[in-house]
Amino acid sequence: MITNSATCGLFRGVSRSSAGWRAMVVVVVEWLKRTAPSLALDLLVISALAFPGACAYLRWPLLGIYALVSVSAVRRLRANPWLRTIVRDPTMRIIHGLEHAALAVLTEDELPALGGFTHGHDRFVVALGAGQGHRLAEVSDAVARSIRRVRSGERSLAYQPGCGTSEVVSMVSLWLVYVTCVLLSLVIGGSIAVFVALSVITFRMWFAWETALGLLAQRLFTVSTDFVSASVIEVREVAIMRNYPRPDNQTWFEVVVHVQVASTHGELITPGVLG
Ligand SMILES: [Zn+2]
Repeated sequence: MITNSATCGLFRGVSRSSAGWRAMVVVVVEWLKRTAPSLALDLLVISALAFPGACAYLRWPLLGIYALVSVSAVRRLRANPWLRTIVRDPTMRIIHGLEHAALAVLTEDELPALGGFTHGHDRFVVALGAGQGHRLAEVSDAVARSIRRVRSGERSLAYQPGCGTSEVVSMVSLWLVYVTCVLLSLVIGGSIAVFVALSVITFRMWFAWETALGLLAQRLFTVSTDFVSASVIEVREVAIMRNYPRPDNQTWFEVVVHVQVASTHGELITPGVLG
């Protein structure tokens, strides 16, 4: 005879057991979601090398993807003309880094920082969520703290994965991956099987290094922390910037900063400006 307490214990056991199964199923499903794309790509490489004749049909989809990536890379470059300006302007690269640092500190302060852009030799805009106009003093304080932190050696604040530089580099480097695959395939022998295998392998390498490539491009071309001093001149709320109206769901603050660029080799630094 099963007592009430034993019955309860039995049901608890069944309940625990089914909960355990459910948890295990969730873990397996999550694992499959994470690994299925990699497994599919690995199977594609093995199939291409094992049955080269069977993957000849992949030539056209691969060429289609190549055309799409090429068009996207050109469109990204054309949509970001500021890249050409900022690469040639050391002061603007510093301002760009300070914009990133300010956004990082605003996020740490748990303010609704949505993004920003650098639009001048001495100024940038940070965007918060709608109705944040009363945060002006907090934004000003966050910018000043971000400058002090970068100056004291916390340079990583100036490099952010969400930057437009990373988006452009991502697409251009993907295009380079395809071009490299085509060239390598031609050098090795030009078979479609080799092309498929090389494409998958280089794509996986690109995918693993995508974030690092973007950060490297910022370090090399669009961001600099090479300054001896910087100070906030003005912070003000703006609704439009160079014909770009502010979206309704954002609050924009324009930050004007005076930057003393680091001296180049052989120049003198006036005593007292270091800070
Ligand atoms: Zn940026």
